[in-house]
Amino acid sequence: MTDHQERPLAILGGTFDPVHLGHLRVAWEAAELLGADVHLVPANVPPHRPQPVASAEQRVAILRAALQGQDRLVLDQRELRRQGPSYSVDTLIELRNEVGPSRAVVLLVGADAFSGLPSWHRWRDLFDLAHIGVLSRAGHAITESPELAAQTRGRRNRGLSAVLKTAAGAVIDIQVSALEISATHIRDELAAGRQPRYLVPSSLLADPLLLAPYC
Ligand code: ATP
Repeated sequence: MTDHQERPLAILGGTFDPVHLGHLRVAWEAAELLGADVHLVPANVPPHRPQPVASAEQRVAILRAALQGQDRLVLDQRELRRQGPSYSVDTLIELRNEVGPSRAVVLLVGADAFSGLPSWHRWRDLFDLAHIGVLSRAGHAITESPELAAQTRGRRNRGLSAVLKTAAGAVIDIQVSALEISATHIRDELAAGRQPRYLVPSSLLADPLLLAPYC
């Protein structure tokens, strides 16, 4: 894995309305643990769903400002370019076509989201396209329904370096720092006229226009 092209590629999806230090810290810890580049993939929210407060363009501008000064976490706008709901399976198919059949791709999901995986569109196909990196807090058990457990059985048995030499199919438990930060709380703070200092990168506060959609 000396070639930059062959580093694992991880993706973290979300609304990022707005991105905050909770997102950035888990993405960074995953990048370090996996030796990966991590793509932050803002979701396109179709018209019939509750809309984010900020537009796609505004969320992108905030992400750009947040990612300044480093190159391991990368903004990836592919879901915003697609119409309709942002299904992870479609994102991974697109990514797999770009990176080829052998590069390790890791879909990062929070432990809660992972427990709900069987409700995702074509969820079993995800395991053919990527490894699933489950972001969990130390000491918190990951709950799996019988259906999910049947799918993950035998997928946790190998060491990390062996797993990352393969393209897809493993479940990787990634222990991350639990920062009690949510975008909802940040939006509430801004709506109440308070500054979310130390919850978002300071670069977001340097430009008053960036967080204006929430004020
Ligand atoms: P909201 O409060 O609007 O629901 P959010 O802060 O949960 O938003 P999302 O954009 O929904 O942010 O999250 C994207 C991804 O980041 C999800 O996988 C989510 O589990 C994860 N995530 C969100 N906040 C944190 C946090 N504080 N620590 C670790 N992971 C987080």
